[in-house]
Amino acid sequence: MITEAEALELDAADPGHRELFDVPPAEGGGYPEVAYFAGNSLGLRPKATRSELLEDLDSWAALGVEGHLDAARPWLPYHELLTGPAARLVGALPSETVVMNTLTVNLHLLMVSFYRPTRSRHRIVIEDSAFPSDSYAVRSQVEFHGYDAEDAVIRLRPRPGENSLRTADVVEQLGGDVALVLLGGVNYLTGELMDIPTITKAGHAAGAIVGWDLAHAAGNVPLALHDWDVDFAAWCSYKYLNSGPGAIAGAFVHERHLGADLPRFEGWWSTDAKTRFEMTPESRPPATADAWQVSNPPIFAMSPVRTSLEIFDKIGIEVLRERSVRLTAYLAELLADFEVITPADPARRGAQLSVRVPGAGALSRRLRFEYGVIADSREPDVLRFAPVPLYSTYHDCWRAGAAMAAVTA
Ligand SMILES: *Cc1c(COP(=O)(O)O)cnc(C)c1O
Repeated sequence: MITEAEALELDAADPGHRELFDVPPAEGGGYPEVAYFAGNSLGLRPKATRSELLEDLDSWAALGVEGHLDAARPWLPYHELLTGPAARLVGALPSETVVMNTLTVNLHLLMVSFYRPTRSRHRIVIEDSAFPSDSYAVRSQVEFHGYDAEDAVIRLRPRPGENSLRTADVVEQLGGDVALVLLGGVNYLTGELMDIPTITKAGHAAGAIVGWDLAHAAGNVPLALHDWDVDFAAWCSYKYLNSGPGAIAGAFVHERHLGADLPRFEGWWSTDAKTRFEMTPESRPPATADAWQVSNPPIFAMSPVRTSLEIFDKIGIEVLRERSVRLTAYLAELLADFEVITPADPARRGAQLSVRVPGAGALSRRLRFEYGVIADSREPDVLRFAPVPLYSTYHDCWRAGAAMAAVTA
């Protein structure tokens, strides 16, 4: 039996950075703040976000159009402020990285370049438990190219009785008819962390392009997209990246493909910034990921991403991962009586533990309103808990364990 006092001692010995975040008040239970485990869905707001966003907003009031060049953080090159921190977070070169649009939009823009089916090679491999947006995106791409989605989309399922995909089984599915492998780096439902370098290598050996959806991986686990030779990747910024609902997303294109003759959907932000205002009828895209941009970006939506990425840049994802491994192992101990479908091996999971339990939806409401514990449910029977190393505490984990025991008693 783990006691509350022990949890508090662990917090004193291994504190995170909760002081940098606004933690919502609890609607139930005996504690003033929620025990927040939904950072894999919507991360909490950094305290600095409000004031830094207001600074950007006030540049508009003070300068009008001149803010493009004269704002304290000028709008024309604003997205470049995010490139370095985003690149370091995912293990990429700055030239390979761009913060733009939203996740599914970026997947589409990248598939325009990287899903180029032929009759003999037109299949796309995804996980059967892919996030629905990814399923819809790949099906619509297949159909856009005139192929049959039922036939062309291969959905990988775990072996009967198992909850996660085995790397060797994934590799075995990568045949010569596969044009694109597009998997989640960390699965949204099970929390399984895929073996990105091994699968990427196997995909290349089969002659396929390999892209990764890093929605649940960016800001959760260290990544080395450049060294792993990933072709392209995209991620959102509102989950572990704490940049607010619908925040501007990220994209990665490997250096090998930069400046190459690839099809792209372009706009005025695709052309080189140095010659953009020459207003020529043809674009001159730079040999960087910036060439995938289309429109001028929404500055007030980028501001929270900049603030958040600076936090990751200062602390470092490797340091956060170490605390994450300790915190998630602690929560696993507290949830030992439940059926956790997330891999038990810390190397095969990030910060999330998924619990299979009947009536998950009703349980999640009771956790919230009776105990102040925020964990979300996914139909029909999964509760997801993400102890986020930046702001979650051992005491939060202890509260989750106690509340789960109480609501399932
Ligand atoms: C959260 C998530 C999305 C959401 O897509 P948006 O375009 O940001 O709305 C897509 N794919 C995966 C795997 C996700 O986890």
